[in-house]
Amino acid sequence: MDRYLIPPDTPVSLGRFDPADTGGLRENDTEDRLEHLNRRLETLQELLYAEGKHKVLVVLQAMDTGGKDGVIRHVFEGVNPAGVKVASFGRPTEEQLDHDYLWRVHSHTPRTGQIVIFNRSHYEDVLVVRVRGLVPAEVWNRRYQHINEWERLLAEEGTTIRKFYLHISPEEQAERLQDRLDDPAKRWKFRRGDLDERARWGDYTTAYEAVLSQTSTPWAPWYVVPADRKWYRNLVVATILVETLEGLHMDYPPSEDDLSGIVIPPAG
Ligand code: AMP
Ligand code: MG
Repeated sequence: MDRYLIPPDTPVSLGRFDPADTGGLRENDTEDRLEHLNRRLETLQELLYAEGKHKVLVVLQAMDTGGKDGVIRHVFEGVNPAGVKVASFGRPTEEQLDHDYLWRVHSHTPRTGQIVIFNRSHYEDVLVVRVRGLVPAEVWNRRYQHINEWERLLAEEGTTIRKFYLHISPEEQAERLQDRLDDPAKRWKFRRGDLDERARWGDYTTAYEAVLSQTSTPWAPWYVVPADRKWYRNLVVATILVETLEGLHMDYPPSEDDLSGIVIPPAG
């Protein structure tokens, strides 16, 4: 999976990443694999909670229809919902806009033993905000540095961070938008505004390239996940998360009491 990892301070050109890459695998050969990873993740999440030492933050970013919701549904399938929290960040409220842009995300960062998934994130403040010119260039330009330092703070205080850019092609997006238009059960997801965003594909690509080039750090790395094939996208994200959690070398804590020789008595 290291080929999807962006090393720190590396200029990234997304044109060099194939959104349809499947790592030489075929869907039929990998059916059990995601299920196996789901079970591993389930166990590792329980261990994370039991051990109570680490916090885990997963950041998901993508163009519209890129599959953020799909990843949340399929990668975390079967994981105890009590141990995982999803925080979604849409348009900021007036109160949020009256604060610095990290204010609204900070309170959603994970507590000890918890996994939090950011569905969109503080990165919107250098993506949509940049593309739409919602603040002057000198304002968003400073933010890459803020973000790196803020993520460093989280990491130094015990948070393991992994960030995923789900990389789809404009052709795949066209198909997915068309599906949303055609399927009555998906129409609610379609907004006219989605086409305005699509019209800015090139600007978003430039903005994402700046994010990937400037904010992949040893303490909060970015992965570019090929996402035209949903099954492969899920497999890549699940594999990286399982490897990350395994890398924490967690253990179940010992019981606080001496439990040797205990026999459960009949109920009184
Ligand atoms: P969705 O994820 O489809 O519910 O859409 C959420 C919308 O909120 C997207 O169009 C984002 O671009 C927008 N959004 C998220 N964060 C910000 C932000 N900081 N400033 C402006 N718009 C944002
Ligand atoms: Mg949307």
